[in-house]
Amino acid sequence: MRKNIVAGNWKMNTTLAEAQALISEIVHMVQDETTGSPAVEVVVCPPFPFLLPVGKLMPEGGSFHLGAQNCHQKASGAFTGEVSAPMLQSVGCEYVILGHSERRQYFREDDELLSQKLKAALEAGLKPIFCVGETLEAREAGDTFKYIEKQLKDGLFHLSNEEFDQVTVAYEPIWAIGTGKTATSQQAQEVHAFIREQLARAYDAKAALNTSILYGGSCNAQNARELFSQPDVDGGLIGGAALKSRDFTDIIKSF
Ligand code: PEP
Repeated sequence: MRKNIVAGNWKMNTTLAEAQALISEIVHMVQDETTGSPAVEVVVCPPFPFLLPVGKLMPEGGSFHLGAQNCHQKASGAFTGEVSAPMLQSVGCEYVILGHSERRQYFREDDELLSQKLKAALEAGLKPIFCVGETLEAREAGDTFKYIEKQLKDGLFHLSNEEFDQVTVAYEPIWAIGTGKTATSQQAQEVHAFIREQLARAYDAKAALNTSILYGGSCNAQNARELFSQPDVDGGLIGGAALKSRDFTDIIKSF
């Protein structure tokens, strides 16, 4: 079901005390300023060791949901240092970010591996937030659509209709991540509409209309309202601004 979602990706930031302080501030601000019910689903994705303590500080059964930033493609086994989807599910995670450009770039995650991770997440009952987005070179060469079409086809479209129902897509142009360079609302809308068109082709019109497509890339309290007002932008995947309680709350309130 298509929902408005604001997801905060904390990446490899915060200590335990900082994580607890951040989530407490966000929860209080959101509760105070939206009389307890923001118009969006809020997904908070702290580092693995802080999932449980952060989850404990989020109100149950409301708008707040816990997410992880990655998972392994196998459910268990001899994979030292890795974290599996069933483990995440067991500590209260509902969502998992997969295919983030930092995972693709620094950890060499390709479409084949990501398709296995998607399956693993879905089998554990997690909802994947699947990221796609073009490089600066691809955009400058006029290849944005081609680049994204390939990521969707190779990474995502192997899923069945039932599996795909659980997926949220995030459009994150790589040139906009952590750079302070945001896509204009027109650029975002154009790509979001293209993604929705591809989803309709791969599945059907209803599935495409029901899928939430989030924008990510230097989204902040100043530009969120304009981005979220676009017809195919259903919210944001937020990096830097998710680490500041005031900014993240203002983004949540931008719907
Ligand atoms: C991200 O890493 O998903 C992201 C969107 O980062 P930032 O908001 O900092 O650009």
